[in-house]
Amino acid sequence: MPRSKSAAKLKTPGKLIEMSPKMDPDSIAAHMERVICQLGEDPKRDGLVNTPARIEKALKYLTSGYAADPQKIVNGALFDVDYDEVVLVRDIEFFSMCEHHMLPFFGKVHVAYLPNKKVIGLSKIPRLVDAFARRLQIQERLTQQIAQTIQSLIQPRGVAVVCQARHFCMMMRGVEKQHSDAITSAMLGAFRERKETRDELLSLIQQR
Ligand SMILES: [Zn+2]
Repeated sequence: MPRSKSAAKLKTPGKLIEMSPKMDPDSIAAHMERVICQLGEDPKRDGLVNTPARIEKALKYLTSGYAADPQKIVNGALFDVDYDEVVLVRDIEFFSMCEHHMLPFFGKVHVAYLPNKKVIGLSKIPRLVDAFARRLQIQERLTQQIAQTIQSLIQPRGVAVVCQARHFCMMMRGVEKQHSDAITSAMLGAFRERKETRDELLSLIQQR
């Protein structure tokens, strides 16, 4: 449908606001300008004039994980080794956005696997975490996706992902609990089947 000039105008109670002339009316920034109006603010005032564009840039970055390809991330960093003990990368910081409120949740994720003749370059594991964190997420799915991806990339004997996070939608609104963490885990292969393997991992995670 062709957009008339008036389509770029919008009504807020009592006033008609002209959108910034150079803005693509379908862009995130244009929508954010409308949201700012709907909140009763003036998007033309100094402090807010570039805010819609900033929000667009931030949102695109925070959801850039959709464009990430796990296979590409690890390309050139898969190595054949004889090592068959646990590999653990712990305390990987992440920042994500809950898909229910589009508010941040953030915390740490611990990623472990038991190699089966193949390992992933250690620095690639935090990048895999980011690829799934930078999306609209729920913590449970984020945890599962990291585990399943490592499983399919290197077919290890086991994968374990433990994620500990705080959710702004719980802290700032709703129940307003500032100090509760949510912990999720995904255990595959030997970590699921063998209690000793799982216990060894949990003690490694807790060791300081
Ligand atoms: Zn939420």
